[in-house]
Amino acid sequence: MNIVLLGPPGAGKGTQGERIAKTLGIPKLATGDVLRAAVAQGTPLGLAAKAAMERGDLVPDSVILGIMKEALALPSASKGVVLDGVVRTVPQAEGLARVLSELGRGVDAVLLFEVGEDELVRRLSARATCESCQTPYTGREPGTACDKCGGKLVRRTDDEPEAIRSRMRAYHEQTEPVIEWYERRARKSDDAGARDHNGPRVVRVNALGNIDDITKIVMKGLEG
Ligand code: AMP
Repeated sequence: MNIVLLGPPGAGKGTQGERIAKTLGIPKLATGDVLRAAVAQGTPLGLAAKAAMERGDLVPDSVILGIMKEALALPSASKGVVLDGVVRTVPQAEGLARVLSELGRGVDAVLLFEVGEDELVRRLSARATCESCQTPYTGREPGTACDKCGGKLVRRTDDEPEAIRSRMRAYHEQTEPVIEWYERRARKSDDAGARDHNGPRVVRVNALGNIDDITKIVMKGLEG
């Protein structure tokens, strides 16, 4: 099952994505994690992405398509993958459809995480993230240790107020049109009387509330 997680920064895509991947026994691909690791290692990919990421802007579609293509071709992804924050523009959605179709696959479900902007800003402003395993914590002090791996919690440079504003703008301007793009494809395949690989199911999730409750809603949405 190939699942796309859509939603603004801070909506909980990473946390829920981790749980979905574990439950379904498939890997999770988060382009943000891949890019942050590349920046930390100073690879050419990291050098190409660093400035845009620090500003809170999106990195070019061509960079993302390269990461997608490589990750989806791995044997570990052959049974499906949870794509966390990977599709952020319409050209990326088109590119993903192309890459998957070349592999004889398609997007099966799109989960849209919805949270009001005030809450998102509150979460991101109070967030510390493990520099090793990328687990986010709300309300924890930077410098303390990650519960999962013992790594050091740091404040992401793009969790500063100005970068948060840019990320929200990028979401509204570039990512929100992706929702309509997938919903149109879902309607088309419904009209055709069969859900084919052009039309994933789009499930809207109210992502405000208890993390465990949201996981239950998400898993039910994937079954339905
Ligand atoms: P995230 O960890 O998902 O919040 O991503 C952190 C940053 O990485 C974003 O603000 C972008 O600068 C960059 N990034 C991650 N995924 C993408 C993507 N699919 N398209 C463009 N930029 C991305």
